Amino acid sequence: MKQRIFGAVVTLLAAPAVGYASAPTTPLPPLAEQAFAHEMLSELISINTVHAQGTLKAAEALKVRFLAAGFAGSDLTLVAIPEHPNQGQLVVRLRAKAPKAKPVLWLGHLDVVEAKPEDWTVPPFKLTERDGWWYGRGTQDMKGDDVAVASALIRLKREGFIPNRDLIAAFTSDEEAGDGSGVEWLVKNKRDLIDAALVINPDAGGGSFKQGVRQAYGIQTSEKVYVTFQAEVTNRGGHSSIPEPDNAIYRLTEGLGRIAKYHFPVETTPTTRGMFAVNAKQETGQVAADMLAVAKLPTDLAAAERLSQTPRLASRLRTTCVVTQISGGHAENALPQRARASIQCRMIPLDTEGQVQAKLEEILADPAIKLTVLSPSAPAPDSAPDPALFKLFGKVVTETWPGVEIMPHMDLGASDSIYTRAAGIPSYGLSATWTDAEDNRAHGRDERIRADRFYEGVEFSYRLMKALGTTKN
Ligand SMILES: [Zn+2]
Repeated sequence: MKQRIFGAVVTLLAAPAVGYASAPTTPLPPLAEQAFAHEMLSELISINTVHAQGTLKAAEALKVRFLAAGFAGSDLTLVAIPEHPNQGQLVVRLRAKAPKAKPVLWLGHLDVVEAKPEDWTVPPFKLTERDGWWYGRGTQDMKGDDVAVASALIRLKREGFIPNRDLIAAFTSDEEAGDGSGVEWLVKNKRDLIDAALVINPDAGGGSFKQGVRQAYGIQTSEKVYVTFQAEVTNRGGHSSIPEPDNAIYRLTEGLGRIAKYHFPVETTPTTRGMFAVNAKQETGQVAADMLAVAKLPTDLAAAERLSQTPRLASRLRTTCVVTQISGGHAENALPQRARASIQCRMIPLDTEGQVQAKLEEILADPAIKLTVLSPSAPAPDSAPDPALFKLFGKVVTETWPGVEIMPHMDLGASDSIYTRAAGIPSYGLSATWTDAEDNRAHGRDERIRADRFYEGVEFSYRLMKALGTTKN
């Protein structure tokens, strides 16, 4: 144990060599807390929680930790979706004496993406230390953050801290894959257990280093809404020796060609405008000027067009739809009777499935192409960048990482926050784990977290939890 603690300290001292500018002033937890968090992470990584294995064992291991720390059995609820008993979830509550506000709920998924030992250079289900980094499936997504949340609750309990509102954490199943999100199930079936004024979801948001320099810290308030359509053309077909002008594959691909050339209109939201305003400070020249321009209303369309030349930025400025799959025909010597394509859309949360479908039909411009919904959207409203809450978030972020600015953030992908947002609970993504913009290994091989960043995250989660347990926001 001692050696491990020393390892972290040495890493921290050596860190400025990689541009770790704020290291000397970044507060870390006491050594005993570091040792405890490290041990818990090591335990969780060693419990394989890919979908097929389930999360029950990990939820049980956490329960043992909370009981040992003095939590009452009645404040710990181990639940599993009845049809999937090995997908265990643990809900833990640190109680207020006389609650002054509705609880705050932390979400953390315990499941991880599959990892094949033969693809990795270290065993994926064992915490391996190498050059100041800790390797293992889930270190980044998101057992590191799970441990940060769990150890914060335990530390507060040990210190005798009584919050002025209940602080709840739900360690959940099937975020990555499976038979339905554990959070979705909890919201539908155990609302009383997890009901809260707001959600903190460390699976989203957070900060990243670019060439060793800390960038702004994003607080995820919004995510694009996912919907997939199927475009299909059918035809009576015939013998390939007698081609006819009306051909299912030609009709479909001509329509898809029109989709390829279409760009949905630019739309900004309070979140994306706030994001571009802060991002502009990290850019120079025309890009910085264009980002500042789209951070205002009315939207500067010329600036938006220039930014849209970069696909990553285009996706933040508009709804996008792209053809992802195609199939058709049934024999090499027959005229096709059927041609199909999947069109995957990621909508700016202001748009609706119906609007996007109508627009696609208009662009396909062919009544023979039948457009249907393959995966319906699960709309979730943005969580407003509430000023009082953002002030609190900003204070905790800059106390932990001096000089780092916060900004609202819209994710292009999806997280479990869609379920809590859809249930009317504002949800904020605040990951404690800093990543590298150039080397993000979540879901990939040799996933890892740097020891010093992990400890910073443990301290950040503790401070954030204490701050939210002290205010009435
Ligand atoms: Zn995740």
